Amino acid sequence: MKNTKKLLSITNLKKYFPVAKSSLFQKEQLYVRANEDISLDIYEGETLGIVGESGCGKSTLGRVLLQLYNQTAGTTMYYGVSLADMPPKYVADTLKNLDKYKTTLKKASEKAEALNKKVEEAGGEDKADFYLLQDRNLARCDEQTALNHIVKILGGFFAMDEGNQGRDLMLKIHEENVKRAALMDKYADVRVEFEHLDGDAKNASKKSKLGEEKAKLEAEIKAIEDKTAQMSVQLDGLRDKYAKNEEFAKYEAMRDDGIDLSRLQYDEMRLLRRDLQIIFQDPYSSLNPRFTIGQIIEEGLVTHKFFKHGSEKMREHIVDTMEKCGLQEYMLHRYPHQFSGGQRQRVAIARALAVNPKFIVCDECVSALDVSIQSQIINLLQELKEKEHLTYMFISHDLSVVRYISDRICVMYLGNVVELADAATIFDDPRHPYTVALLSSIPTTDPDSGEKERIILEGNIPSPIKPPAGCKFHTRCYMACEKCKRVPPELREIEPGHFLACHFPEKKLAEDGSYLFELPKMERKSNREQG
Ligand code: SF4
Repeated sequence: MKNTKKLLSITNLKKYFPVAKSSLFQKEQLYVRANEDISLDIYEGETLGIVGESGCGKSTLGRVLLQLYNQTAGTTMYYGVSLADMPPKYVADTLKNLDKYKTTLKKASEKAEALNKKVEEAGGEDKADFYLLQDRNLARCDEQTALNHIVKILGGFFAMDEGNQGRDLMLKIHEENVKRAALMDKYADVRVEFEHLDGDAKNASKKSKLGEEKAKLEAEIKAIEDKTAQMSVQLDGLRDKYAKNEEFAKYEAMRDDGIDLSRLQYDEMRLLRRDLQIIFQDPYSSLNPRFTIGQIIEEGLVTHKFFKHGSEKMREHIVDTMEKCGLQEYMLHRYPHQFSGGQRQRVAIARALAVNPKFIVCDECVSALDVSIQSQIINLLQELKEKEHLTYMFISHDLSVVRYISDRICVMYLGNVVELADAATIFDDPRHPYTVALLSSIPTTDPDSGEKERIILEGNIPSPIKPPAGCKFHTRCYMACEKCKRVPPELREIEPGHFLACHFPEKKLAEDGSYLFELPKMERKSNREQG
């Protein structure tokens, strides 16, 4: 990976959909476990491909990431904006409840320490009573949770800060940032209005008034920024007291300066929508048939206060975006039904691109298109990525397409990530049996690879309501053993940048493409037999 600056970081993300009860007497609430404990980072400027069969949870993951679906658990950190630009309410809440969290932390630490002493008195972990060990571990867990709460959101200093001087200062900074964000919003309105007015005599007085208001807002914003900069210097001064403290350094390393999308309120998330866009699979149903192409692209620009509705600047921006996406100006007043599938998908791309996003989820965005059109759209996406410095999550079930466009590939099965590595590694050195099976199913036109072994996975994907115990893939895996039925494999880094969730990471493909393990008795057909 050339760029290692994180744009998004997902930790233990879960998305469960409740299933309607089938009778009045059903007590247990069932859930479709669409995403289960997903942890991965997305780096600036990369294309992360997500592959897997239908129903594996890849589209859900894309939507949860953008908070189009609320996530059930876990964190989704976004690093594209600063906490000053978007001061979230949850940070203020944590600051206000800091005393409560610190008390919890103190109690849990004392309890963990006392129980640990008892474990030592009993002769260490090997000899201590099982329940004692369990209590000690639970206390440690509580300690870690409270610490995480303070340290991840606020930083190590706040866990150690005596007298809460730093907390009070930080609260003031937060309040100033909230004021600044409100002023910026107002400023966007005034700026748009000001730029929209042309300078003729009839508008002269209105324009000059707007100009004054704009300058006043700029001055107010600047004053707030100066004030917060001063307070930040004071805060750093307070922090310096602990600079040489080992514990402080340990805590500071745990600090996360991103914004947790899963904890934002609806309005806060709306502000970030311009940064985080999506292109849907179906270009027929994702465009409003009553809107012209111009109106479709304009909608987001008005919502996010780029330009005033109907202004010349708006028109120029829309035409410019359309041209970038291979659409001509005369198409501005046409309706979606007057376009082909490929052209409609270009409109969908233009709509996402118009608001200058940083991250785009491409959700099966070429699957509904003709093969020849697919390549045009993929090339367009590649070109735009370079020019506009975009980051993509490219969701597809088509491995050849994903290979072409992706820097890294994440393979999903039944809601879990089973393998994650750069594209070349996934194709040349796949380790998960599911990845191997997926790769073996790619059709080829190369006559020399005609005898390539094809692995047919038996059975259907199990129900995500009651997934199999142990490794979820064991019911279809040709390598499954007793352990697989009981113990779920963790996603581990087996080589730098190569993550795998399988108990047998050492099994790999031989250089000639054959498999270095015995396939059990199951249907195996060559590509030729498959026709
Ligand atoms: S853990 Fe076992 S069942 Fe799961 S993929 Fe690996 S070998 Fe197959």
